[in-house]
Amino acid sequence: MMSTMQDEQLSLATLLQYASTFRGDSTVSTWTGDGVRTMTFREMGAESARLANALRGLGIGVGDRVGTFMWNNNEHMVAYAAVPAMGAVLHALNIRLFPEQLVFVANHAEDQVVIVDGSLVPMFAQYLPNMKTVRHVIVANGDAATLTAPDGVQVHSYAELLAAQPSTYDFPVVDERSASGMCYTSGTTGDPKGVVYSHRSNILHAMQVISPSGMGYSEADTVLAIVPLFHANGWGLVYAAMLSGANVIMPDRFLQPGPLLQLMDQLKPTFAAAVPTIWGGVLAQLQAQPQDISHLRSVVVGGAAVPPSMMRAFQDKYGVKLLHAWGMTETSPLGSVAHAPHGLEGEEAMAYRITQGRFPAFVQARIVADDGSVLPNDGVAVGELEVKGPWITASYYAPGGGEVDPDKFDDGWLRTGDVGKITPNGYLTLVDRSKDVIKSGGEWISSVDLENAIMGHPAVAEASVIGIPDEKWDERPLVAVVLAPGATAEAAELREFLTDKFAKWQLPDSWAFIDEVPKTSVGKFDKKRLRASYADGELN
Ligand code: ADP
Repeated sequence: MMSTMQDEQLSLATLLQYASTFRGDSTVSTWTGDGVRTMTFREMGAESARLANALRGLGIGVGDRVGTFMWNNNEHMVAYAAVPAMGAVLHALNIRLFPEQLVFVANHAEDQVVIVDGSLVPMFAQYLPNMKTVRHVIVANGDAATLTAPDGVQVHSYAELLAAQPSTYDFPVVDERSASGMCYTSGTTGDPKGVVYSHRSNILHAMQVISPSGMGYSEADTVLAIVPLFHANGWGLVYAAMLSGANVIMPDRFLQPGPLLQLMDQLKPTFAAAVPTIWGGVLAQLQAQPQDISHLRSVVVGGAAVPPSMMRAFQDKYGVKLLHAWGMTETSPLGSVAHAPHGLEGEEAMAYRITQGRFPAFVQARIVADDGSVLPNDGVAVGELEVKGPWITASYYAPGGGEVDPDKFDDGWLRTGDVGKITPNGYLTLVDRSKDVIKSGGEWISSVDLENAIMGHPAVAEASVIGIPDEKWDERPLVAVVLAPGATAEAAELREFLTDKFAKWQLPDSWAFIDEVPKTSVGKFDKKRLRASYADGELN
């Protein structure tokens, strides 16, 4: 028996229509360094229509890819809203990718038009001659005349192009399974791979983001989107804001701890989202220059494990709760979120909050052993995490057919490459990435556990642990340490600090004191580079 329910498509065009009318008073604001440029969602709707008209005029139709090469700002939010709503596909390019990777992803995705921020034109100009499919570049927030384009590429000013367009557009409702956006993995452990989101996946994901078991954004919130919109679908933040009516603050290019804190002081966001290294920097800045940040109701941290010491420091010193979440570009990205079970307080709650979190209903998860057998969710058995669900990719984008990295999929499940365990009530604890786990004498050492413990030492600002080849043990841990400003500590003291937390054979013998841990294009510890620099003997 079929239902009597209407067969309405989940459509980002419908979401834009909703956001720009019934949520029309909500706002998106871009920080300018000392103030803001604010746009209501109503104005965003009109600007989206103008952008859609302009793109149609440039030949963009349903399914065509429109790239962005932008900071987080109002115009980037408009592109996120308008491009899928017109049936085209938004491809937010990661501005910090290595040049050859950046060119590779733009060509692979076959971007036809790219919207570029004026301040990024000099960087983009170097890549443009190698972008084979780009026909039009639209320069926003800057002077289009500063970009010299190769033959066959036209350059337009965003402001001039849009000024000539009508502020209405008949946004089509396309099949909910059709592509709405693309993101490439940031290449932490390999070449970037393309993930294609659908209208349906983005909307279901946004509903999970705003639910109390997700981030719980509401119209009462002002969300500071520090995580770049090109990192893992911008953590779903844009569509979640449009759905909930939460106000959004975009930091543009002001991403250093000092400017971020200045912005927060003035605009008092209630939510913020970023990777742990950003919060590490903010914490250090706060220690040097204290400031009240208790306006932050919650701070979403993910993309890498959050050191428990960081969580405690934010909570104990500044009254701010970090909300730990796990996800991937492939999972839209929200996988699990670490809210403590109802009724728990203090240390009992903390024991759950430092995990990677509980899975929501529609992210199915299991732990699989090396031999492919499924292990129990008993909170003890450790294996590779595999996930499945309506906002999890079933393959990587392969233009013209074929398969990219089919080994990443196991009978309909995504193999995450993360190693961990799941409790009977659905909490995930990650031990490590399979590529980062240290194999010593036939046993495993978690690089993440060591990092978390070492970063709990007051003299340590950052610590990243890698496995280095060892004749006898196969691999042994090496710790790359960045000391806090003005602090001193010897390797022996740091090692001693770990003795009550680890078995003796797990304690690192190699310590390198460095000025900065290299970071990936999305701000994570770059262990690939650390390993490579150690191999060259550069690290000391
Ligand atoms: P990349 O794979 O290039 O780093 P992603 O941002 O998609 O790009 O990375 C997803 C990976 O980040 C996950 O597979 C996991 O290894 C790591 N990760 C994400 N969130 C967490 C977390 N809360 N704790 C530990 N690792 C995390």
